[in-house]
Amino acid sequence: MCICGQEQNFEVCCEPYINGGKIAPSPEALMRSRYSAYTLGNAKYIYNTYAQEKQAENPIKEISEFANSCQFIKLEMIDSQDQSETGYVEFKAHYLFRNLYCTLYEKSEFIKVDGAWFYLDGDIKETPEVKLNRNDVCPCGSNKKFKKCHYK
Ligand SMILES: [Zn+2]
Ligand SMILES: [Zn+2]
Repeated sequence: MCICGQEQNFEVCCEPYINGGKIAPSPEALMRSRYSAYTLGNAKYIYNTYAQEKQAENPIKEISEFANSCQFIKLEMIDSQDQSETGYVEFKAHYLFRNLYCTLYEKSEFIKVDGAWFYLDGDIKETPEVKLNRNDVCPCGSNKKFKKCHYK
């Protein structure tokens, strides 16, 4: 299974987009590969797939700090729409920040430039943060206790 939750392996799912071998054919494919890149801490790919006008306000350093301070545990795809020049993807990215279980619930907008999709912007919906105790079951699905799994 790929990091993004698809059935295929990472090598045939998100990796070809991340290493530049293939262009993501849809907003959803791009979004999934960006999620995988966050998980891997590949800030350069995330930066490069921002729409050009958004790159200045999202420096690689900040992307990298966010990616490295969080542990992404699951991507939940809710909806995606692909029109010819714009597209939308609604998703929940589940991650841990220290002992907080957080959900980024976002409807993202993508634009197509010269045949390639880029992330433009997103509407973020308010989600609760859940504080985890060391003995809680880890929310990643491992069935292990938090302290024996994603606890840092
Ligand atoms: Zn993938
Ligand atoms: Zn875990």
